[in-house]
Amino acid sequence: MRLFSNRARPVHLGPHPVERLPRSPIPSAPPEAWHGRAFASSGGLERPEALPGLRSSVERYAALFSALRNGETADAQAAIPSDVQERSNNLKAQCSFVDADLAGIASIPDSAWAEGRRIHGHNLVLVVAIQWPRLPRAGDPGETWLHDARGAVAEMRAAEVAAVMAHYIRQLGFGAVGHAAGETDLDIPLLAILSGLAEVDAHGALSHPYLGSAYSCAAVSTEMELAPDQPLAPIGGGDRWRVRGLSWFFGWGGTRPGWSRLNGEHRPLHWGPYPMERIKRTESPTTLLTDKIPRVPKRAAFFARALAGDLGPKAQKERARFATKTPNVLAMVPLIRAMVPHQHGPVASDPTPDTDDPDWNADCVKAAAYFLGADMVGISKAPDFAWYSHDDDGSEITPNHRFAITMLIDQGHETMEGASGDDWISGAQSMRAYMRGSEIAGILAEHLRGLGHDARSQTNADSQVLQIPLILLAGLGEMSRIGELVLNPFVGPRFKSVVVTTNLPLTPDKPIDFGLQDFCEKCLKCARECPCHAIPFGPKVMFNGYETWKPDAEKCARYRVTNPKGSACGRCMKTCPYNLEGLLSERLVLWAAINLPFTRKWLAILDDKLGRGLRNKIKRWWWDLEIVDGRAVPPRLGTNERDLNFANILKPEDEKIAHYPADMNPSPDQQDPLPPDRKEGLRRAKEAETPEAALHRLRT
Ligand code: SF4
Ligand code: SF4
Repeated sequence: MRLFSNRARPVHLGPHPVERLPRSPIPSAPPEAWHGRAFASSGGLERPEALPGLRSSVERYAALFSALRNGETADAQAAIPSDVQERSNNLKAQCSFVDADLAGIASIPDSAWAEGRRIHGHNLVLVVAIQWPRLPRAGDPGETWLHDARGAVAEMRAAEVAAVMAHYIRQLGFGAVGHAAGETDLDIPLLAILSGLAEVDAHGALSHPYLGSAYSCAAVSTEMELAPDQPLAPIGGGDRWRVRGLSWFFGWGGTRPGWSRLNGEHRPLHWGPYPMERIKRTESPTTLLTDKIPRVPKRAAFFARALAGDLGPKAQKERARFATKTPNVLAMVPLIRAMVPHQHGPVASDPTPDTDDPDWNADCVKAAAYFLGADMVGISKAPDFAWYSHDDDGSEITPNHRFAITMLIDQGHETMEGASGDDWISGAQSMRAYMRGSEIAGILAEHLRGLGHDARSQTNADSQVLQIPLILLAGLGEMSRIGELVLNPFVGPRFKSVVVTTNLPLTPDKPIDFGLQDFCEKCLKCARECPCHAIPFGPKVMFNGYETWKPDAEKCARYRVTNPKGSACGRCMKTCPYNLEGLLSERLVLWAAINLPFTRKWLAILDDKLGRGLRNKIKRWWWDLEIVDGRAVPPRLGTNERDLNFANILKPEDEKIAHYPADMNPSPDQQDPLPPDRKEGLRRAKEAETPEAALHRLRT
């Protein structure tokens, strides 16, 4: 939670107020004292023998990312600005987008190259820093799993960012190579000093005024011309408080506060950063689930249908590239693909002793997920209806795990503020969350298997489960008007989910009720702002056993896949009043929305009056580029430039929403294209059962 908004802070400056730190000019040759330094090592406690830790799984993922540090460079340079400062700002903003805590740029002196490893033409380096995650308090759940993995997690994340950034720069047509601990040609600590990401203290240790000494760095060497930063001016330890000041402590200007309480560090780690414990819990979800929810094959999902040609040749062609048609997205794809084979694997033969207490296990799992970077975690049973019936290849899926650990990854408020929701950054927002989710779930699942309990990560790239019912059952949100989206009180619809299914004994959480059904009744904003009128203005209906505002999934998928002036779409997410920045003032409004039902209609109106949902130009950090024939070029058909469209309201009787319930699905192994029967879909929507009728039917 922050006290001050960051709406006037450009994204390339990052979360810490680095621009306020004094710098010294770059010396012609680095001082001798700067050589031979190293970042602090993991710093864990002595490892108790009782349980294995998470560290080996983290290190395996770090090795996966480090192996992706180099690759092909696009054969033509993208049409990007020639101004080196603009280029540097773009790279730093992309670092911030993928959650680097700091980013700096330096020229590479000869002495920074390992002997014989100099890469011809690579004269500049982008250095990134990742802060070590917080450990559970002594004796708290998860301590024995995590205590020695702090440095390893930060090193893995730094390797991830370096691989992504190197791939991004290569997509722009410039040579670039990532360098991370264990797989580097460069003296990374020296370059961290030169780029202003570290200083040498009186004891010869490396540290930073905002991060202390608990952080890890990685680097990307490149031939792209950039504007180097200056090293930090020497600051005596006693002067740190003076240099950082009260503005840093309270987060003036929207920077990350130095006051640890505002960052939630007073809370037990397994509670997570958001006060979900204050949200009312219920025995069942706030929307009806009948006992007749059919299982569906993966072939029935509209993205799969587009790929199979059900939506026509144009959608089929675009489906193959829709999520990867910008360099920002493409930068993350190799990492996502590399993680897929590790989603499942061998299970240790005997369950580790002391892993039979479901309450304790649940808290340990949550602590581990937060430690790895999840924004929200909930646990539920994994009922049969949450499993797909058949896989992509038509083979049957047998539900084989009893529990689901569901995690939400925030797609990021800052970039969302700059975007229309359906311009050229939308796909990258999704992909970043998918990448991070795959990493967290993959490591967690591998760790649980190491404890002797079968577990599989269920990611966007390969999932055997439907995530919506699991988010709902895990108490992470309520069904919203957006329809195929469960909305969370603190991050709204602005997240992607990832799941670990497992047989580790766990205590499930309960569903939540924060008044969203009433709020969405009174607020039509997502329906009004959807570019293709896929979200209904009318009431909820029953669909495949769920009470829901049923969107037109065909229209939504077709728009996202074929969007000619952007990459994918998340405009409903952008414009929803629950798309919050995370400020104290917003918490007060949220409290009113939850506890004072009469305010809901007025809050929805106020949201519009305040212009929330408009684009904030200061946050627009990315370049509009489209990948065409392997090259990043200016978008051929331009860019969606949308703000709010107050007049775009339809009467429910005038809208054309089609429903395709389970009995209209293609068969699991349908090979040939099978166009959806839209006429029948429209008829089914008109005749959909109301929740009241379903309830009456179930009671009689
Ligand atoms: Fe509409 Fe875009 Fe949301 Fe789909 S993702 S419902 S097209 S706003
Ligand atoms: Fe509900 Fe309004 Fe958000 Fe749509 S925009 S999901 S109606 S709160």
